[in-house]
Amino acid sequence: MTFTAEAGLEMIEAGRLLRKVNLQFLLNIEIGNLTLGSAACCQTKDSLDAVEFGQVNSYVTAVKWVTPSGALEEASEHKNPELLPLIRASYGLAGIVYEVTLRIKPLEIIRFDYEIMKIAELTQAHVSGVIASNQCMVCWTVDDDVVIQTRNGASELRHEWLADSRRFGWSFLGAFAGRVGRGLASGTPVSNLVEEIGFGVEIGFYRLISRLGGFTLHGPDKMVDYSKTPRVGRYAFTFWAFPREEWVKNLKDYLTFRDEHFRRHGFRCNMPLGSYFVKKDTSSLLSYTYEGDVISLDPIHAPGGVDKDAWDRFLREFNAWAHQRGGIPLLNQSPFVTRAHVVSAYGHRWKELCDWVRTGDPDRRMLNEFFQDLVV
Ligand SMILES: Cc1cc2nc3c(=O)[nH]c(=O)nc-3n(C[C@H](O)[C@H](O)[C@H](O)COP(=O)(O)OP(=O)(O)OC[C@H]3O[C@@H](n4cnc5c(N)ncnc54)[C@H](O)[C@@H]3O)c2cc1C
Repeated sequence: MTFTAEAGLEMIEAGRLLRKVNLQFLLNIEIGNLTLGSAACCQTKDSLDAVEFGQVNSYVTAVKWVTPSGALEEASEHKNPELLPLIRASYGLAGIVYEVTLRIKPLEIIRFDYEIMKIAELTQAHVSGVIASNQCMVCWTVDDDVVIQTRNGASELRHEWLADSRRFGWSFLGAFAGRVGRGLASGTPVSNLVEEIGFGVEIGFYRLISRLGGFTLHGPDKMVDYSKTPRVGRYAFTFWAFPREEWVKNLKDYLTFRDEHFRRHGFRCNMPLGSYFVKKDTSSLLSYTYEGDVISLDPIHAPGGVDKDAWDRFLREFNAWAHQRGGIPLLNQSPFVTRAHVVSAYGHRWKELCDWVRTGDPDRRMLNEFFQDLVV
């Protein structure tokens, strides 16, 4: 039960091929356009298929790559298994991945349910209860409400048309509405009101799904294809992970940070804040759940011409706030990440990875400007 392909294949295309024979990946990541090569050697996160692990490369059982000296190398559960945690964390620094093998399983139906509550009423005990009684959980903060989305197995399709609405929301509508609302109302006296109405409509949609009793879909249908999304429907985000048991406190403190930032700079995100629950996992040397379960804080925003600089300033201030609280950034998903952030989040594991890639690439052929600023 494995799938082997060239590294340039996108997850969504691979998923379509598997589906034809009633099979699927164990983790059908939201970003269907992720290539297998990137999936094998970069950091990822998913909370709605994360029954066992929430990082795609934890399901990678074999990788083949061309080293910086031009040799062919491979690591698998049977050959050089000690290299698997390293190559899963290598970001291309150890060479170019050309073939990837991932675990697969029979096609499954899954169910999404939604619970909406005021953040002021949210407790860590409630979150622990949700985690204990469901397979997976992800949360969306819209203004001062939190939407707790859970995932479990199901035996038949019900309200599956809602899965299409969900995909449309993520691949176009959410970012489009946020960006257009900001563009039209920005700087006018009604701008706040327009955004509050937008948040209200969004929560109303989640309440409707919740009242309908959620919906079911085939596992691979949760992947979103962004390849045809026009610029006006695209969004950006950042990701910092925190220990699971501190999440509610972190979330409430984040709201204070968010509101204070808005008061000082007049900027706030126009899309929900995501919070991914991902379980402890040591499969990759750079697993951000190496030390234990995490729940993240991911501000999401659709920047436009009017607020691109304000979004960048927000990201930098959020980085400083998250770093100070012991957060863990992802190298490919936390814009403006610095060496100090990476060193305090990954410590000796970052050093071990840097030492390993330096041994295989003494002339630094694979080192680009981005990593030049991060390596130790
Ligand atoms: C709209 C949107 C939604 C997203 N949603 C999610 C999500 O739900 N979950 C999630 O985890 N991430 C998400 N992401 C982030 C995404 O996973 C990362 O940006 C990912 O790295 C992109 O993969 P890619 O295949 O486009 O890689 P690229 O951007 O092409 O490559 C990223 C890096 O991977 C390395 N690399 C790629 N291919 C190879 C190879 N063959 N050999 C060696 N190194 C290689 C290189 O270092 C390269 O710089 C999202 C991004 C966007 C824009």
